[in-house]
Amino acid sequence: MVWTHTCSRLRQNPCCSHGEKDYSPIALKKTQHVVSELLALAMLFASSGARAQLASGSMDVRWDEGASKCVTNSQSPLQVHSYNDRTFILRENLCVTFEAPFLYLLIGSEKALLIDTGDVGDPSKIPLANTVMRLLPGEGSAKMHLLVVHTHRHSDHRAGDEQFAHFPNVQVVGFDTDSVRRFYHFTDSPNGFAQIDLGDRTVDVIPTPGHNETEVSFYDRYAGLFFSGDFLMPGRLLIDNTSADLASAQSVAAFIRDRPVSFVLGGHIEMDANGNLFPWESQFHPNEHVLQMKKDDLLALPAAIRSFNGFYSKSGNFIMMNSMRLLIAEAALVLATIVALLWILIRYIRRHKRPSLPPSHYEDILARQVAMNRQTWAALQKHGVTTESALRLDFSYNAASREAAENLCALLRGQTDYEVNVETSGSFLRRKWGVEGRTKETAVSPEVLDQWVKWMVTAGKERSCDFDGWGTSV
Ligand SMILES: [Zn+2]
Ligand SMILES: [Zn+2]
Repeated sequence: MVWTHTCSRLRQNPCCSHGEKDYSPIALKKTQHVVSELLALAMLFASSGARAQLASGSMDVRWDEGASKCVTNSQSPLQVHSYNDRTFILRENLCVTFEAPFLYLLIGSEKALLIDTGDVGDPSKIPLANTVMRLLPGEGSAKMHLLVVHTHRHSDHRAGDEQFAHFPNVQVVGFDTDSVRRFYHFTDSPNGFAQIDLGDRTVDVIPTPGHNETEVSFYDRYAGLFFSGDFLMPGRLLIDNTSADLASAQSVAAFIRDRPVSFVLGGHIEMDANGNLFPWESQFHPNEHVLQMKKDDLLALPAAIRSFNGFYSKSGNFIMMNSMRLLIAEAALVLATIVALLWILIRYIRRHKRPSLPPSHYEDILARQVAMNRQTWAALQKHGVTTESALRLDFSYNAASREAAENLCALLRGQTDYEVNVETSGSFLRRKWGVEGRTKETAVSPEVLDQWVKWMVTAGKERSCDFDGWGTSV
């Protein structure tokens, strides 16, 4: 289609060298072939031209691995790698901060750009500002102007801002949402791009919310470097807002699809060379994964995020998690464990809290109940009850525990025809159990009542329950 169109334009264009007289099908075919080859060559030229324009650099660096015992660690607090003479990668030492973030210094002809200031404000721990100043061209008042920006507002990417406060040649861009939008003129954030002009070096700024709403990524046209902060890195991709993160990944994929990318450089490394995560807050990274990722990783990111389940997912090289939801789930789990342990403890205390009973405990109950039988029988007689009367006796027990109450119920159900139930009273911490029941209608006498009470007290004793008395309706 393209070639036919091109040739018809050639035919109409008198200045075109292919617009000769011979328009026969064979000649047309030849023309199509030549044009197609020319265009293919031109495209090849254009793309290799774009690559040739990229400033080359080296990622041949071994990052300090921290230490299992940081007290004896003698590595530099701030490692500096020169990617090329106008691009520096700085990393805060794992022993100073487990975050060990990467910071990037890009030098243009008029201005320099520092992406992120790391996790440490105290210059005696990490002399960030002084190190950066030494890398900047110019001396004294002629020192090159420095613009300090952030991938996002998390403190491990901007705690070093304060070190730049007293340098007259430095402008630090705010890290809050309003400052970011205002500085880049993002009126329709997260849509739209911005550019930072460093002289002969332009850096594109792309909003990439998802990990954090202030997150932006940077594309350095000079070296073809893509700085992805915590949006993409060899580590935990913490996604707070999945739909925003997916939109960002799609936007970035569309942005870089036709642009050359030398390396994708993120904010941290949190995994080893085999793709296994180091423990959270680990200050020792033996056999660490390389920092650099590829353009293909950026292009594959949208599909990975689409597969994210909202809590924790692994897709290819990507390990995605929602830290807030995981935190809530963990907190709920911890709470449930505490409640379960508390419950077990309370049950244990209840089961064992019964003070050891005196040997005469059940004899005392029996004596008390027999004595009460006399009084109760006398009272019943006043209400006209005789040994011929049919009565249903209501009775109750106090139980040492729910198990004791249930065991007694089972015993009574097995050996009598009484109606019996476990009764619970009191609040959660002061819970009490008992057994209440009722006999069938029966005629009683003081002798029968004494025998019955004796049997009931003994049954209670077998199941750690105290017979608490009886009554009847007349
Ligand atoms: Zn972050
Ligand atoms: Zn971070």
